[in-house]
Amino acid sequence: MKSIAILGSTGSIGQQTLDVVGAFPDRFRVVALAGRDNSALLAKQVAQLQPRMVYSAKAIDIHSPAESLSMEEIAAHPDVDLVVIATSGKAGLRPTLAAIRAGKQIALANKEVLVLAGKIITSEAKQYGAQILPIDSEHSAIWQCLHGEQSQPARIILTASGGPFYGQSPEQLAKVTPKEALSHPTWKMGRKVTIDSATLMNKGLEAIEAHWLFSIPFDHIEIIIHRQSIIHSLVEFADGSTKAQLSFPDMRLPIQYALSYPERLPNAHLPHLNLTKVKALTFEPVNPGQFPCLKLALEAGKEGGTCPAVLSAADEVAVNLFLAGKARLTDIAELITQTITRHHPVVNPSLEEILAADIWARQTVEDIAKRKITC
Ligand code: MG
Repeated sequence: MKSIAILGSTGSIGQQTLDVVGAFPDRFRVVALAGRDNSALLAKQVAQLQPRMVYSAKAIDIHSPAESLSMEEIAAHPDVDLVVIATSGKAGLRPTLAAIRAGKQIALANKEVLVLAGKIITSEAKQYGAQILPIDSEHSAIWQCLHGEQSQPARIILTASGGPFYGQSPEQLAKVTPKEALSHPTWKMGRKVTIDSATLMNKGLEAIEAHWLFSIPFDHIEIIIHRQSIIHSLVEFADGSTKAQLSFPDMRLPIQYALSYPERLPNAHLPHLNLTKVKALTFEPVNPGQFPCLKLALEAGKEGGTCPAVLSAADEVAVNLFLAGKARLTDIAELITQTITRHHPVVNPSLEEILAADIWARQTVEDIAKRKITC
């Protein structure tokens, strides 16, 4: 029986994690839940699962004897075996570090943790012997391909669906509404990730994640468009052999693999792949001109230091401006570019310097956006 803490239990990944956990009542036990915005759902989850520990960002009436703790206290608690980091943005950073320092297994879905502080996170995980198990489907695919291999990969190939507007002109993209952008063709995801998929920022952030998780240089990471989202990523080895991981696009599979690793468990709720129904798998090179956000992310990743933190924070604010109808989809890259241009990067930043860069970037995007709107 594995005792699991789910930080971000009310979000898309958190809810799907509960779905997986519920399918194996004699394997997994939820001992802690943490939520931020959806306090009604958190209260419902707590009433149903009766975890021993709970964290809520908002005051809630939970009718439960659960102990109220911070996310960091939960992550490091001796009763917890595995911590699912399903929070979003920088919220997962300190709890992940707390889990690492307590030597926990960490199932990581919050990509900003590695984007912002990949160097600190991976070196501390090594130091404390903590295991980071990726939940992001691409990284889960790479991890599954590398399982049992003794050699470092020669190349990692990340697949991207291209999002709902793949192939549209910049003029067409400028007219996209938030509602249109939120309808992703193949994946069920949160709002921020869905918009990031449309701009391919998501794939750029994933390249940064892959760089840290698998210690692979950026020029050994390739990105290709694969519209069907059946191959979740590929690994090429020195001898030219390439391994791929295929499955129906359903986040519950990478979640389950992270929870049950190194075992694979049968789950009747998970769809199985029928290749004769899929028929064709297609692959196309990415045109970086069509996806300026991808280009910005790769540049920030290579630059390192505080640059990825600034990129990520600027993107979060710009995406929110788009969702609020205050910016166009095509303004997102422009707002990030202007913010990065104004930034003076710190080369080997501490956690505090990373978080300071994040706050600075948020304020800077807001200022730029306001000025733009007033002009
Ligand atoms: Mg992904």
